[in-house]
Amino acid sequence: MKLDSKHMRYLNADDWKTLTAVETGSRNHEVVPTALIGQISGLRGQVHRSISALAKIGLIGRLKNASYDGYRLTYGGLDYLALNTYRKRKDVYSIGNQIGVGKESDILVVADEQGFQRVLKIHRLGRISFRTVKANRDYLRKRNAGNWMYMSRLAALKEFTFMTALRENGFPVPEPLAQSRHTIVMSLINAFPMRQIASVPNPASLYAELIQMILRLAQYGLIHGDFNEFNILIKETKAGGTGTEDGPEKLILTPILIDFPQMVSVDHANAEFYFDRDVNCIKRFFERRFHFTPDEKGPHFKDARKSIGKDGVQRLDVSVEASGFSRKMAKELESYMEDIGVDGDRDPNAARGDEESDNDFEEEDGGEEEPEVADESYIIPSASGDEEMGTDKFGNEV
Ligand code: ADP
Ligand code: MG
Repeated sequence: MKLDSKHMRYLNADDWKTLTAVETGSRNHEVVPTALIGQISGLRGQVHRSISALAKIGLIGRLKNASYDGYRLTYGGLDYLALNTYRKRKDVYSIGNQIGVGKESDILVVADEQGFQRVLKIHRLGRISFRTVKANRDYLRKRNAGNWMYMSRLAALKEFTFMTALRENGFPVPEPLAQSRHTIVMSLINAFPMRQIASVPNPASLYAELIQMILRLAQYGLIHGDFNEFNILIKETKAGGTGTEDGPEKLILTPILIDFPQMVSVDHANAEFYFDRDVNCIKRFFERRFHFTPDEKGPHFKDARKSIGKDGVQRLDVSVEASGFSRKMAKELESYMEDIGVDGDRDPNAARGDEESDNDFEEEDGGEEEPEVADESYIIPSASGDEEMGTDKFGNEV
């Protein structure tokens, strides 16, 4: 499922109204009746032309065997709506290479109008669900069908809300820049995941820094829940001497934390389990990769608990609820992720990076291909006829 924006230029004002109407109708209907699309869009009988245009390029799909004539939004359609919003708000101007294909997300490099690079993360919850829990296939197929859109939106909203809170409190995370539907835009970190780093000059100090980060998160009321070598990017900066007269050049390694849809509160029923798992993940990786074994045991959750809220810090697990990601949303997302077998980067079937690839994932409709890596940068085509926009980036009226 590759993001492909090339059809955007061919959509006219009616097409956008129709696409938006299908999105709106999806809130209450798994399959949006054609008549309702005509009604919401205000196009009435005129809607059929746009419906076939959108269906032809896969932005909406007709559900066969439905008892009534109707359509549902596809991931492609939702992608277009998000991109269109970003383009109007001038958050994204062009789309570049895909740099990551997770199980539940696509990561792309994009740029703003000044050419500054950013990262677009597209959440795609549910796209691999049938592979992981095969026994519950039919149940999942049913449950998944109507929920992926809402749940992917929740995942993006959660990630954006937590990233914002962490960033505001001085945690080393990307800068959250924008959010729309199932996607977020954040700053590009010029660094590799720790998974790709063969050796470091001083494993003990990097290890200490990562453990410190886990403890500091707990102090602020949070557990990352997927704290591993894929979600820690290691930024390298050179500092100190030139390597000749004023001593050896020093490499400073700064870990940057990413990937927040599975964060939990320290008050979560399984908090201790998640905390220990985060700690052990780092331990195991440092032992295997850097042959580093810490002298001390722990840290243990009971010790971390004592520091919650210490020094008067804000509890972010509490403050995110006030800033838009409610407890109810958290519960809904968590139980959905549990149902479809999402467990962060830890899934043994995970297809990513330098690990074995996995070709057997199956889509809801069984028809879509595995994402490919785009290698050309292209500008998001202007959506002709969107009345809110005024002019496009070429100064043309649209
Ligand atoms: P997933 O939920 O699929 O694991 P992540 O947020 O962990 O998605 O991103 C997947 C990969 O994309 C990361 O391992 C990293 O290589 C890359 N990536 C994600 N966000 C950024 C960023 N802001 N800057 C640079 N690379 C990133
Ligand atoms: Mg990840």
